[in-house]
Amino acid sequence: MDFSLSDEEKAIRQATRDFINREVKPYEPIILERERRGEKALERSELRELQLKAREFGFWGLATPEKLGGMDLSAVMQSLIWTEIGRSFVPFRFGGEADNILFFANDEQREEFLVPTIEGERISCFALTEPDAGSDAANITFSARRDGDDWILNGEKTFITNGNDADFAIVIAVTDRKKDVRDGGSTAFLVDRAMGWTSSPLVPMGPNVPAALSFQDVRVPNRNILGEVGQGFQLAMKWIGKGRYIIPSYAVGIAEGLLKMGVEYSNIRQTFGKPIGENQAIAWMLADSATEIEAARWLTLNAAWVADQGMDPRHTSSMAKLNSASMVNQVVDRVMQIHGGMGYMKELAIERWYRQVRLFRIFEGTDEMQRLILSRNLLRGYEKVEPRWF
Ligand SMILES: Cc1cc2nc3c(=O)[nH]c(=O)nc-3n(C[C@H](O)[C@H](O)[C@H](O)COP(=O)(O)OP(=O)(O)OC[C@H]3O[C@@H](n4cnc5c(N)ncnc54)[C@H](O)[C@@H]3O)c2cc1C
Repeated sequence: MDFSLSDEEKAIRQATRDFINREVKPYEPIILERERRGEKALERSELRELQLKAREFGFWGLATPEKLGGMDLSAVMQSLIWTEIGRSFVPFRFGGEADNILFFANDEQREEFLVPTIEGERISCFALTEPDAGSDAANITFSARRDGDDWILNGEKTFITNGNDADFAIVIAVTDRKKDVRDGGSTAFLVDRAMGWTSSPLVPMGPNVPAALSFQDVRVPNRNILGEVGQGFQLAMKWIGKGRYIIPSYAVGIAEGLLKMGVEYSNIRQTFGKPIGENQAIAWMLADSATEIEAARWLTLNAAWVADQGMDPRHTSSMAKLNSASMVNQVVDRVMQIHGGMGYMKELAIERWYRQVRLFRIFEGTDEMQRLILSRNLLRGYEKVEPRWF
């Protein structure tokens, strides 16, 4: 079995690493300063400038089809790139991207929503979660009622990433109460902010500030339906599915960066006349972290590989998401412990990571939901204990 990367994969990974080190990492001390003053980590214009610089080196639209100017990379290559991005805490991502389900846009929507999003001229958000429907997403009540050629949208969405900045929202609404939300009862709408919805920022533990969205009699034309009427839940699951190998890839990069800090500090920090790394209590934290990162790396790359083979990636992606989210939380906790009091100070980024990665066990399917999916697949015989392709 050959686990090595191709020359092309290695070259793209190296180019990403160089770009992150040269252009992105210099923002780190600036961001720590800004956040201590309560300011925004990175302005939209700064992110855009970085993205345009990356475009000059060919990094544009990792998952975007070539005909729309993107790189159309494999899931494995995207995973490798997201691991590189994870090495820095600057909230950077390459430009030229759009929510994966926006590619279901028809010709008209393509010009109005998809292309401007890829070009970075418009910002989208994806709104499924509601105050009374998170894990049980099929329980949403946000309604869309037909009125001539329009739909009237009413309801609340919550915890929406990018909801404060978005120019338009991809909203999942109940369109037929007689049907199951999962099976024909819900629809995805593309809704401009100018159509009348409002957002208010929530106050989170970590650096990503989500929003609560409110829709009161928001009139949306029928042409703004994404995909088909009744297809909302399927699109929502497709959106969430992608994150389940991207988040783990990012988590692996974060954990690697943290472990490097842990190793370095273990060698230089002296107590009782010797480096702390010479104590088994500290050394084992390093050993366990390295082992868990390695396990998460292969589980994640495997999930991406399964997606690339055109096989159903849901089981392997749930494993990767569950494992990596817990792994990165373990690693950040250990690295904070290794740094003692310094680890708790905002002077270093460890406490920032600590707050940020806690989210990974919650969003895009909690740990418990991943376990529910995995165990259900086994109990109902959808998946076997050994991998399908063995
Ligand atoms: C910062 C942030 C950003 C987010 N971004 C988005 C976004 O962009 N778009 C979007 O639509 N949503 C977003 N979410 C929502 C996120 O996906 C939900 O928070 C998540 O799905 C959990 O739903 P909940 O918060 O309602 O928790 P609940 O569903 O109320 O769950 C509470 C707890 O009970 C557990 N639980 C629930 N049911 C079961 C069960 N059957 N068995 C065992 N345990 C169970 C859960 O695992 C959890 O621990 C975001 C959330 C956060 C915090």
